[in-house]
Amino acid sequence: MSCARRSLLPTSPMRSIVAVALLSVTGTVAGAQDFPGVEVEAIHVSGPVHMLTGAGGNLGASVGDDGVLLVDDQFASMVGRIREALAGIGGDEIRLVVNTHWHGDHTGGNAALGGEAILVAHENVRATMAVPSETAFRASAAAPSVALPVVTFAESVDLHWNGEQVKVVHLPGGHTDGDSYVWFTESNVVHLGDHFFSGTFPFVDLKNGGNALGLADNIGKLVATLPADCRLIPGHGPLSDMDDLRRYHDMLVETIAHVEAAWKRGASPEDLAAAGLPAEWSSWGGGFIDTDTWIAIIADSLEATRER
Ligand SMILES: [Zn+2]
Repeated sequence: MSCARRSLLPTSPMRSIVAVALLSVTGTVAGAQDFPGVEVEAIHVSGPVHMLTGAGGNLGASVGDDGVLLVDDQFASMVGRIREALAGIGGDEIRLVVNTHWHGDHTGGNAALGGEAILVAHENVRATMAVPSETAFRASAAAPSVALPVVTFAESVDLHWNGEQVKVVHLPGGHTDGDSYVWFTESNVVHLGDHFFSGTFPFVDLKNGGNALGLADNIGKLVATLPADCRLIPGHGPLSDMDDLRRYHDMLVETIAHVEAAWKRGASPEDLAAAGLPAEWSSWGGGFIDTDTWIAIIADSLEATRER
């Protein structure tokens, strides 16, 4: 039987607080995200590959003789600071930008960079950015054409940059319907975009083809296939490794199973929230997504894909 779908996001005052917190990091109010005092820091990972932090999603950068291949570009207001950080590690010319997905804290710099760099992303990133869109937390206007990816793909695309093959591979129906990971094959570094919130519950964009169950499946496949010794750049959180990804996968599988068991018995959204999650995962609610919101995301994902 299929029950009437009751979305849990965002409804309560608690989730309104979450929404405000999320807005502050993902950006919603045009012109209001200058992030004063936030600096972009570059961390060398391996070979030509660096991780850059700042405001919004973590950046990846391959810096070398071919110029800079940048993975994601945070917000428009961060582009100057991103350029400065890249210049500090020898990167003067941004020639390629790969967007892991369409969210504004990963594509906000596209409009500033699209005139000088080739923008690359899954075809659903371009389709979503080209029209007005919204998540559970924010609405976005259609992006100007200069900000849209000009190279798009359905499954994967290989780039050859700074002496290595860079594989960009679609991850269907996880964080959104248009996510990709970026694998620097010689450097042995993978940027996982927002499929990976290292050490915290992830946001899942159900309004744009995302699903927590699909995300867990995708992460399970990556755990099984990526090299055991590769370094991982998460969309949010610190530079990580495969042990961190396995722990994250355990969290996804176990919290989904926990919620699903009660959901199958007919528990209401209020019952699910009241039941909470095993204490083992309590610290994972300290990021953008608190425990109640993660339970709601799982329940909405179950409603969208499973029969009770
Ligand atoms: Zn995202």
